[in-house]
Order: sequence, then C-alpha cells, then structure tokens
Amino acid sequence: MSNDDPFIQETTPSPSVATRDADPWPDPWLVLVVDDEPEVHAVTRLVLTRLRFRGRPLKLMSCLSAAEAERVLRATPDIAIILLDVVMETEDAGLRLVRTIREEIGNHAIRIILRTGQPGQAPEEDVVLAYDINDYKSKAELTSQKLFTSVVAALRSYTDIVALETNRRGLQQIIQSTDRLFELRSMQQFAAGVLTQLSSVLRVKPNAILCAQRGEADGPLTVLAGAGRYADAVDHPDHALTPEIVAGINEAFRSKRGVYGADGSTLYIRVPDGHEVAAWIHTDRPLDGVDRALVEVFASKIAISFSNVSLYERLREANETLELRVAERTRALEEANARLNRLATLDPLTGVWNRRRFLELAGAELGRARRYGRHLGIFLLDLDRFKQVNDTYGHAAGDEVLRTVVRRTREALRASDHIARFGGEEFVVMLPETDIEGTLVVAERVRASLAQAPVPVEGRLVPIAASIGVANWLADETSIEQTLRRADSALYSAKQAGRNRVERG
Ligand SMILES: [Mg+2]
Repeated sequence: MSNDDPFIQETTPSPSVATRDADPWPDPWLVLVVDDEPEVHAVTRLVLTRLRFRGRPLKLMSCLSAAEAERVLRATPDIAIILLDVVMETEDAGLRLVRTIREEIGNHAIRIILRTGQPGQAPEEDVVLAYDINDYKSKAELTSQKLFTSVVAALRSYTDIVALETNRRGLQQIIQSTDRLFELRSMQQFAAGVLTQLSSVLRVKPNAILCAQRGEADGPLTVLAGAGRYADAVDHPDHALTPEIVAGINEAFRSKRGVYGADGSTLYIRVPDGHEVAAWIHTDRPLDGVDRALVEVFASKIAISFSNVSLYERLREANETLELRVAERTRALEEANARLNRLATLDPLTGVWNRRRFLELAGAELGRARRYGRHLGIFLLDLDRFKQVNDTYGHAAGDEVLRTVVRRTREALRASDHIARFGGEEFVVMLPETDIEGTLVVAERVRASLAQAPVPVEGRLVPIAASIGVANWLADETSIEQTLRRADSALYSAKQAGRNRVERG
C-alpha cells in the first residue's frame, strides 16, 4: 500500500449489547492496530468488534505505518493493546517500534501483540527473547478465536499492571501527602490539606467537604473545611450540605467505614484521640477496589496527623492560657507588693512618710552629711491645741485639718525635703544641704503659711497654728535621734513661750 496516510477508525459499541447510560464503565479499552495492509484492519475489527471486557467495549484505532503509530502512541498514553505488524515501511519497522515504545516513550503497561505474515523474517523464539513483547501471532490466526483469547488475556494483564501502577503512585502520593500534612499545625490548614491530598490520590478535582459530627449519631454536622465548589462550606454549611452528602457522611459515622456511592465517596477517619471526621468527595465515578484500598490507607495515615494537629492546638491553647494566667498573677502580685510597700512606708491619712520610713531616710541622709561634711536641717512641727479641733468639730474635721497642714507645709518646702507624720498631730521635716539659718527660714515660712488662714471644713472655718522646734545636725551627733531630741526640746520651748512660733535648739 503506497498511501502512507494513516487512518484511525473507531468501532462504536453495539447498542444492543448495553446502552451507554446503563453502563457504569462507559470508557472503552483502546486497542491500536498497526499494519500496512488495510484488509488486516478490517478483519481484526470483525473479530473484536463485539468483544466486551469487564463491561467495557473496545475502541479500535488504526495506523498504516510504524511512524504514524509512534505519533499516536506518544499522544495517547492509555492505549491498552497494540496489535503490531513487523514488516511495514521497513523490514523491521514493527520491531523498532517495540524498542521505541518501551525505551523511548517509556510505556511499559501497554500490551504488545506482534503479528507477522512472514514468520521466517522474524523467528518467534528470537523475537520473543530479544524484544519486550507480550505475544506473537501469525497472521494466519487473524480470524481465529485465538486472537480473541489473546486480546482478552492481554487486557486482563493490562488492567493488573495499571492497577499496580495506580496503587504504587497512590501510595507514593499518600506518603508524600502525609509528610506534607505533618507539617501543618492549624486544624483549618490541615483540614484543607486533607481534601487536596485526597483528591490528588483519587485523581479527581478537589470538590470535597470535611465534617465532624456534633453530639450523638445523626447529630448536626460541623464543616471543618471545604474545597472546590464547596470552598465556602465552612461559612455556608446549609447551602453546601446537600441531602446526598449528609446521608453519605452520616452513614460513614454510623458504619465507621468508608461509604462509596455512584459519584461521591465518603472517607471515614477515626482519630486516635477518639474524635471522628468524615470527608465527602465528588468523584464522577464509583471508586474501584484499588481506589478504595488507597482511600483506606490514606484515612489510616492521616488519622495520626489529625491527632497530632489536634494535640498541637490543645497544647498551644493551654500554653496561651497558662501564659495569660502567669501574667495575671504577676500583675496581681506586683500590685499587692506596691500596696504593701505603701502601707509599710506611708501615713494612710495624709500620704506622707511614716515614722519608720522617715528614720530610714534620715539614716541615709545623715551618712551622706557625715561623709561629705554637709548640713542637714531638721524641725519638728506640732499643731497647737489640736485636741480642741477634734472636740469641737469632730474627728473628720480633724483629719481634714491634718491633710491641709501637710499640703501647706509641702508648698513651703523644696522637692528634696522630706516630710513625715511622727504622731497624732506631730510632723517632722528634714532638709538636706541646709544650714541652721536656712532651716529657720523654711520653718518660719511653714509656720506663717499655717497660721495665715483658717481651714474651711464643711462650711466652717477652723483656725490653726503650729509650734516648731528647729535643730540642725551637729558633726558630733552619731545618730539622728540625738538631733531629734534637741528639736523636741526646742518645740517644748516654743509651746512654753506661747505657741505659734519657731524655736531653735
Ligand atoms: Mg506488513
């Protein structure tokens, strides 16, 4: 035959055998017939046209040369069988094509049935040993039952090889995907990852939903993740969860295993921590044994990752709670400490230092004055006739008077001066770096400021005055108590001399 143009023909499955709609496996097996004699194609079609294997018809494709067959083979990786002539454009065109298929194209699944009209040209024993072919037929057997048998046997081993290959690829995919899933730390990311990986194991589009069940069996479902056309299922579960999906998922929870429907399958995952989740995936086809096996392996593998993520999340939450609690406790402790500190050092009524704190401060100031030969002024201030204030106006008025005394005294002092409440109505003032003359000036300023105006309390005016005894630290005094004693005598003198006055000791 001189015309090198290939022709590719299809045989349509006979409607009398089965209608396409009723056939769950509508895809035909692809069989490529390569021969330079057109009659061979016609006869082959005659023998094979009514053959159905596992419910699927055959689709015959025809090429008239090895060159054209190579192009078709490269473009169509899922051809199941090639019925291959040896002598075509060259004496060994068919044998060369065998090498090309196995070594260059790398297709090891396709079953190659070699057919020759001149057995002497290619002796069977030599060819079978030298070339990776699966069968060798003489064209004399073309019309016989032997071709039929040979094709069926080839289809059977082809499906086994494809199943093994699918299985291998699926398992590889599962190993890779579970590795990837192990890295995901948040439940949301993980759930989305599960759906993506599941669809890639099954080689379908990722139209899927992952759900958990709340409460009892047949209880409401919580959508953990959605992918593809169910991407918004988390936000709109009612819209996404069709009765078919809900039924599939509930059945999976009830039976505690995968549920496989005509165009959707539910994967059941039992997490080691006792949780259960189910993933519904749209598959367009019922899953066969290989797919189901892969799905089950996938489910058992990701169950561990699932509990990993769940543990990690709980750990993180616990950690956050713990950190929060520690921070709260620390704050409470700091506040309590500050409060204790205030109580230990401050006079609660007037907010000035208490006696204990004053003596500490005075000790430190005395040390500095001794070391550097500096002055240190002290005066004691005692309110005149304060008992009368309490008796006449009440204790609340007395307290108000004490606060006013503190405020006016402070206004007359410098920032570096210290004031403390020593007793009921007695205060002490310490003036670092101040000689006796300076201390007297300040003391007089304080006295005048107190006596200058009565204190308004609840609409009444309470007149006040104070006597003050001044005593600067002397270089031979080793403790502040000695200085304070001299200030106290001066104060006594001021009282004796008629009150509302400053005396020096
Ligand atoms: Mg030929």
